Amino acid sequence: MKHDAPRPGHDSARKAPPVPRLEIRNLSRSFGGQLVVDNVSLKVMPGQVTCLLGPSGCGKSTTLRMIAGVEMQDAGEIHVDGNLICDTVFRVPPERRHIGLMFQDFALFPHLTVGENVGFGLKGAAEAKRARVEELLGKVGLLRFIDEYPYSLSGGEQQRVALSRALAPRPRIMLMDEPFSGLDNRLRDDIRDETLDVLKAEDAAVLLVTHEPEEAMRMADEIALMRDGRIVQQGAPYNVYNAPADKQSVAFFSDIN
Ligand code: ADP
Ligand code: MG
Repeated sequence: MKHDAPRPGHDSARKAPPVPRLEIRNLSRSFGGQLVVDNVSLKVMPGQVTCLLGPSGCGKSTTLRMIAGVEMQDAGEIHVDGNLICDTVFRVPPERRHIGLMFQDFALFPHLTVGENVGFGLKGAAEAKRARVEELLGKVGLLRFIDEYPYSLSGGEQQRVALSRALAPRPRIMLMDEPFSGLDNRLRDDIRDETLDVLKAEDAAVLLVTHEPEEAMRMADEIALMRDGRIVQQGAPYNVYNAPADKQSVAFFSDIN
């Protein structure tokens, strides 16, 4: 974690607290009169993975879509590095939020090569783009496929290309919505570990949505447990796992055993 530069006249105990890369405050959203995201607040620090964990239908994807800017909230604020990027009046458009997205069904472009897919969102000189594409494909172990087309890759390999594509423009924030749920179990563990390595090396702040406690326990620095549109508990994975806030959370976590 980065430390603030020392300020004259202040001892270290009085340093300003670190600013979250992403902070949402009191976000709410209804559909057809039904509140599906209910006053949700959370923070994600640089270099950290926060998991939004909860059963299907509890409002996780809607929360992510509001942060990405493709869905508008009815109330609440979104801040990046301490700056307001969206409330109900002011709104930075999605393409200017420097947010990377990775969804389960976020397919690669079939008519572009692996290298062209990864470089798709990059601007600037061809050489620099090529270097960035090679760097990322090297990190995920797929450099040899740079001139191949996606159909010749396995599901797991395509997922790693999708991760590279999302990370190519150096997003400050990565939003991942159940990115591994289409993969078979054996492959999934490897890809989770590799993905974590790459995300940590890139210093993105990651908000990972999942309905699987096991995935959250494996990947998260912090878990926000969601149910019926609300965050019911938040903390370090083992604290949340060992001391679930209520009976429904105990039942939810019992899946993991
Ligand atoms: P999760 O990702 O946790 O499974 P979602 O955020 O996708 O949950 O959905 C939460 C609830 O909101 C669900 O009941 C879903 O049917 C509803 N919902 C989501 N998007 C829309 C929409 N565009 N219109 C109407 N209802 C929606
Ligand atoms: Mg969802």
